[in-house]
Amino acid sequence: MKSFDAIVIGGGPAGLTAALYLVRSGLKTAIVEKLIDGGQLHQTSAIDNYPGFPKGIQGYELSDLLSEHVNNPENPVVRFRDEVIEIIPQSDKQHLVKLSSEELLTKVVIVACGAKYRKLNIAKESEFIGKGISFCALCDGNFFRNQDIAVVGGGNSALEESLYLSKIVKKIYLIHRRDQFRGSKIYQEKVEKTANIEILYDSVIKELHGDNGLSGITVTNVKNGSERKIDLQGIFVFVGFEPSAGFLPKGIEVDSQGFIKTDQEMLTNIPGIFAAGDIRSKNCRQIATAVGDGACAANSAFSYLENLNA
Ligand code: NAP
Repeated sequence: MKSFDAIVIGGGPAGLTAALYLVRSGLKTAIVEKLIDGGQLHQTSAIDNYPGFPKGIQGYELSDLLSEHVNNPENPVVRFRDEVIEIIPQSDKQHLVKLSSEELLTKVVIVACGAKYRKLNIAKESEFIGKGISFCALCDGNFFRNQDIAVVGGGNSALEESLYLSKIVKKIYLIHRRDQFRGSKIYQEKVEKTANIEILYDSVIKELHGDNGLSGITVTNVKNGSERKIDLQGIFVFVGFEPSAGFLPKGIEVDSQGFIKTDQEMLTNIPGIFAAGDIRSKNCRQIATAVGDGACAANSAFSYLENLNA
C-alpha cells in the first residue's frame, strides 16, 4: 500500500496551496482530485479581487498558475485522479484513505474538497438541469445568447455572474428572496446600473414551466403574495454552497450546515486531520481565504508531524 506524510483531498486553491507548502517542507505529499485542478475557479469568469492581479485574472488562468506552482522537481507531489470514498483514522500516527481504486496510508490528511452548489429544491428542478437550469455562467452562458433568463440569489456569485451574463443574454430577471443583497456593494451598484438586468426583490420562484425544456417561471413576491408569470429560456442558480464531503471520518465535528469545524490553525477535532477552504465552517469564502487556509493547514500539519516524530 502506498504511504505518504500528507494527503491533500481537493485540488482547488486551498488544496493546491497546502500541497505547495507541504512539498516545499520536504514532506511526501499526494493530492487526490477527481476532476481537474482549480475547482470552482473553472466556473468563475473574471476574478478582480485576488491580491496581486490589479487588472483581474480569469479563473482558468489562476488555476493553471496555482497548479504549475505546485510542481516541485525536487519533491514531486503524487497525483491521484480519483475519488475519496472514506477516511478511516487508525491512530494519531496513521489514517487510511480509501479511494475508488486503491487504499492509501498517510500520517496527516488535509481536507480541502470545497463545496457543491445548493439547489432551489422546487418541483421539476432536477428535470430541467441541463435543459434550462444551470449552475455555471461561464460554462453555459453562451447557450442563452440573446435569450431571456433568470438569475437566482443575492450573494456575490449571483451579482458577479449576472454582470457577466448581461453581456451575452437579452434580459436578466435577478430574483432575490430578500430586499437587500448579501453581495458586495461594488457589484450591487454595477448590477443596478445595468440596463438589461431587472431586479425582483422579495421574490422566489414558485413554479417552473415547460415540457421538454424550460419555457417560463412563476415568481411569487414573499411580502405581498402577488404572482408574476415570466417567459424565459434559462435559469442560473447561485444560492450558495453545501458541503460535499460524504467521506468524512466518523466523529468529525461539523457545524449545523455540515461544514467542518477547525481551530484557527485548521486542525479538526481528530488528531492529524486538518481542513481548509470552503469545506471549513467560516464566514468568509474567498479565493484569498482558501489560499490562506491552505498555507496555514500545511504549516500546522508540518508542526504536527515534527511533534509526532520527536
Ligand atoms: P452566498 O454568499 O451564500 O449567497 C447565497 C445567496 O442565495 C444569498 O443571497 C441567499 O439569500 C440566497 N439563497 C440561499 N438559499 C436560497 C434559496 N433556497 N432560495 C433562494 N435564495 C437562496 O453564496 P455565493 O454568492 O455563492 O457566495 C459564496 C461565497 O463565495 C461567499 O462567501 C461569497 O462572498 C464568495 N464569493 C466571492 C466572490 C468575490 O468576492 N468576487 C464571488 C463569488 C463568491 P439570503 O441573502 O437571504 O441568505
